[in-house]
Amino acid sequence: MRTYFVCPAPPCPNGKLHLGHIGGVYLLADIFVRFQRMAGHRAHYITGADEHGTYTLVKARKLGQPVSEVAQEHIDEILQCLRAVHITPDVFVRTSSEIHKDNALAIFRALQEAGYVQIREGVQLYCEHCDEFVADSLAAGNCPACNSATDSNLCENCGLAIRHDTLCKARHTTCGHNLVLRRIEQAVFDTPRLARALDTAIGQSAWPEPIRDKAQAWLASDAQGLPMSRHFSHGVELLHPEDLFGQTLLTWFEGLWCFETGIREQCANDFLSAESTMHAPSTRLVFFMGQDNRFYYTVGVSGALLARGYPIPTTPRSRTSTRSKARSFRPVATMHFGPTR
Ligand SMILES: [Zn+2]
Ligand SMILES: [Zn+2]
Repeated sequence: MRTYFVCPAPPCPNGKLHLGHIGGVYLLADIFVRFQRMAGHRAHYITGADEHGTYTLVKARKLGQPVSEVAQEHIDEILQCLRAVHITPDVFVRTSSEIHKDNALAIFRALQEAGYVQIREGVQLYCEHCDEFVADSLAAGNCPACNSATDSNLCENCGLAIRHDTLCKARHTTCGHNLVLRRIEQAVFDTPRLARALDTAIGQSAWPEPIRDKAQAWLASDAQGLPMSRHFSHGVELLHPEDLFGQTLLTWFEGLWCFETGIREQCANDFLSAESTMHAPSTRLVFFMGQDNRFYYTVGVSGALLARGYPIPTTPRSRTSTRSKARSFRPVATMHFGPTR
């Protein structure tokens, strides 16, 4: 009997789910869970709400309501939408919950202890007009790779993770003024140090070719690592090291880590050790995601698993495969990709 943790990407609570969300990710995950249960395996549906994305914040500011109220209202709607199509998550993680904050900080600490987090000088976009640091969708401009309109986080057209110093024509979405760059100390995920091991693991993963190739190309072009923290009041706050005090974790790491909070919660409910379950040969981790979060699932989330000694998700090859190397590599997890829109 295998244990599947089936984890579709957490939606941002700034509205209802639409049919694209349901059809692209949540229904596929539900079908997968039901199929594995019918086949006699254990399968857990784990998702949640990414409350620290700036979309909820922007909506709350527009409505003049507290962020927590707006998030709660939309989380109720999201759960109602899932119930309407008979999808019942086993664990639904709110990223504003204490259990998730603790888990996100524990993952960050483990990455630090493993030597994959560097504290170094970086830059962050700043609005001199509003006198505040700006992050995520509060900064807009053009993608340095494809020139599409994008926020300061991730280009939804080409999938590139945007660095603040590369965003073209950066402006503050709140006031419309142009933004400047300010030097800050920040945590950076040392992906260059992990690059060789992650590249090898991705090469053996049997992910669909275009996904694998793109992830390996991103990895090869990332010479500086991925920023993990910034000055921003909304999110999971870092308490140490001192240089980062009061900064928050980048949502693309912290929000997606709700899958791991959910696994730990499910294991606690079942009186199982999360550590041994996540390492067990019979455990499979299955991600369902949209185009827009592909970069952080393939490089960020997979990298953060590998850096802490966990295997990255791999797609099992068919039994008729002639590649002996693949057979010797234990398929501990599967990764599925689908559009959200
Ligand atoms: Zn401004
Ligand atoms: Zn782009």
